[in-house]
Amino acid sequence: MLRKTKFFIDGKWVAPDVAKELEVINPADEQPFAVISLGSAADVDKAVEAAQRAFPSWSTTSRKERLALLEKLLAAYNRRMRDMANAISAEMGAPMKLALESQAACGAGHIKSFIEVLQRFEFEEPLDEKNPGERIVREPIGVCGLITPWNWPMNQVTLKVVPALAAGCTVVLKPSEIAPMSSIVFAEMMEEAGFPAGVFNMVNGDGPSVGEAMSRHPGIDMMSFTGSTRAGVAVTKAASETVKRVTLELGGKSPNIVFADVDLVDAVTRGLAHCFENTGQSCNAPTRMLVERPVYDKAVDIAAKYTATVKVGDPSEDGDHIGPLVSEMQFDKVQGLIEAGIKEGARVVAGGIGRPEGFNRGYFVRPTVFADVNNEMRIAREEVFGPVLAMIPFETEEEAIAIANDTPYGLSAYVQSADKARAQRVARKLRAGMVQINGTDRPYGSPFGGYKQSGLGREGGKWGLEDFLEVKAISGFEEGLG
Ligand code: NAD
Repeated sequence: MLRKTKFFIDGKWVAPDVAKELEVINPADEQPFAVISLGSAADVDKAVEAAQRAFPSWSTTSRKERLALLEKLLAAYNRRMRDMANAISAEMGAPMKLALESQAACGAGHIKSFIEVLQRFEFEEPLDEKNPGERIVREPIGVCGLITPWNWPMNQVTLKVVPALAAGCTVVLKPSEIAPMSSIVFAEMMEEAGFPAGVFNMVNGDGPSVGEAMSRHPGIDMMSFTGSTRAGVAVTKAASETVKRVTLELGGKSPNIVFADVDLVDAVTRGLAHCFENTGQSCNAPTRMLVERPVYDKAVDIAAKYTATVKVGDPSEDGDHIGPLVSEMQFDKVQGLIEAGIKEGARVVAGGIGRPEGFNRGYFVRPTVFADVNNEMRIAREEVFGPVLAMIPFETEEEAIAIANDTPYGLSAYVQSADKARAQRVARKLRAGMVQINGTDRPYGSPFGGYKQSGLGREGGKWGLEDFLEVKAISGFEEGLG
């Protein structure tokens, strides 16, 4: 059993104030494989004090100094990519190919992208040509509390830690207690890269203790949170008493509008593959497939046939199969929502309740497709966070847009049409932070985030850096004086 019970505070690995241990479970066999510590408010105090001490000097380092350290981090990350993939696969069940090529790899992708953003970013500029003496200066906001979930652990950690440090902030990271091993590897990389003591601190723990203590802490200037809407609201409330900036990446129930003029096999299977990727545990998963009525039955048939071929398997094996869900809690939640779909009258055309054939342990579920779904059903409104697709018919473009926007969320949306002008027209009308047309991938550096209850702020690119900056206006500024 791996023992990783220390926290990274002030440049050192330190024992928690009070020993309280938690076993980390491998979702593929339900067995513990590591032990971590759950911290307390006293550990948060120590980490915040270290971050506060480091801030004056880190916030005044030059762009060149920060870039040099981020380059070292990228080198350490690339060298230990396989360790990272192994940690992610064991803690949250991503099959090795996905763990290596997507889950671990995207961390390096984000570090590289933020290096490019920092190389070009304008921290200072005059207000406009008419007002050269009105200087607009962007400065780091201060000490940042970062809370991340288990579903794309390194994606979320690098989308927060790297821009915060690039901006000149110092940080306290609390990764998910369900998937903490990848962040421990990340902290080792930060140590190897040689960031000054206190610039990056990491405390493990659960939401109600460490997460809550961070959100309330008067020494933290900003909270950046990714996870459920429930916990995001809790962070926001706790942070309000000290008027912190709060950025949130929350859930989604993203629509995928499929018009009749597309190559249907291509569009439907692509949508399903994306919905099932990471065992459906992605906030931007296209979980509501809206299909134009004349091709709806055909699309359901294609979806049923494709889903029957989707393999579920052990994460340690090579291949394109999907792995288990992350935890017993998620397994129960997904089973409950599949049951709710059946009770509300949706038609199961693939998958269903229970484990796939051949599995008697592990949090494996059956990839499931529901047809005849209407947008009022729970499976159309709630984030399932499992490999479950809801297929809804529509008659007109206007109806498709109305159904797509009829959700408390607004993270991603997807449009499939051979008519490019229509696809763009529909994309403009969708109330979502991101719209992907005809399966086009998003590049690194594009802003990630949502409208409505999907969150506040944007991660990635220059927008991700700006979220960690204050804006100062200096009037009466003369160039070259200091
Ligand atoms: P969660 O929101 O409970 O946990 C995410 C992070 O927040 C973890 O680090 C957790 O310790 C912390 N946290 C929990 N309660 C907190 C509190 N009161 N104050 C401060 N921090 C707190 O999510 P979960 O339990 O891991 O998953 C539950 C559901 O959340 C999932 O079913 C899914 O719908 C959703 N989810 C969404 C995303 C996303 O990227 N949008 C990611 C993970 C989970």
